[in-house]
Amino acid sequence: MIDYQEILEEIYEEVTKHYGEGRVADYIPALSEVDPRQFAFSIVTKEGDEYHVGDSSVKFSIQSISKLFTFTLALDIYSRELYKRVGVEPSGNPFNSLVQLEYEHGIPRNPFINAGAIVITDTLINHYGDDYKAFEVVLNFVRDLAGDSSITFDPVVSTSEMEHGFRNLSLANLMKSFDNLDNDPRVVVQTYFKQCAISMNSRELARSVLYLANGGVDPVTGKEYITKTQARRINAVMLTCGHYDASGEFAFHVGLPGKSGVGGGVVAVVPGEMGICTFSPALNKYGNSHLGTLALEMFVEKSGFSIF
Ligand code: GLU
Repeated sequence: MIDYQEILEEIYEEVTKHYGEGRVADYIPALSEVDPRQFAFSIVTKEGDEYHVGDSSVKFSIQSISKLFTFTLALDIYSRELYKRVGVEPSGNPFNSLVQLEYEHGIPRNPFINAGAIVITDTLINHYGDDYKAFEVVLNFVRDLAGDSSITFDPVVSTSEMEHGFRNLSLANLMKSFDNLDNDPRVVVQTYFKQCAISMNSRELARSVLYLANGGVDPVTGKEYITKTQARRINAVMLTCGHYDASGEFAFHVGLPGKSGVGGGVVAVVPGEMGICTFSPALNKYGNSHLGTLALEMFVEKSGFSIF
């Protein structure tokens, strides 16, 4: 029997020695002001048992982790049809690269780079009729997954993103020019920024990805969100594309499906076992949480959990 709490405490002890390394995201003021000396590690097992260490109650901007939830919703609605508009290949490029999108005719490589997530948001706006309704569905979905109806988004972050979001707007405009965006690019990008600005803590996020550890069904409530096959596909895309152009490195060192966000969160899934979330705002050169990635590497070493 593995003593998870003991493992988390050992990890906390070791990784916090690395405070001071890495840099917080500075592309918008709201994120650059976050205290880098924070660290949390949360586990929720499929039995519903929870283990936490560090700043696990601190809410942070989930940013690109939201792409996981919108991908799930869109896959549930459109099934295989979705792949006509977005692929499932690693990009090997930074998350906001325009170049690849140009020569691949406006079809983003995968749902976890910005262009892919913007297309996914567009499909949700189509399905739900308007941007407000689509965002409400996304928010209610994460609330349901986390079992907390108070989860909301930070309008300061989303407004600031909109003021500085020239590159994301370029991606959306480029896709519009290739007919791979149905709605007004500004509206789609605004909705995308709202989903990125959802605030959650590591406890809630670890709980929120539990359905992916259990074939699409929340093992605690019994709710079926997606099919087993769809859950397997999402885990595969997380493994191959979840960490921008450092996805190979994450698979190499950690070996779990995972998704990071520039707010400092990383979620990971141990299939059949648990949902995990780490949080630490200082990022490595690829834009992934520096301590969070180190901590996950230690966790797989100590627990023996890895899909390889
Ligand atoms: N809102 C951020 C952007 O689109 C998300 C970045 C991220 O977490 O990767 O630039």
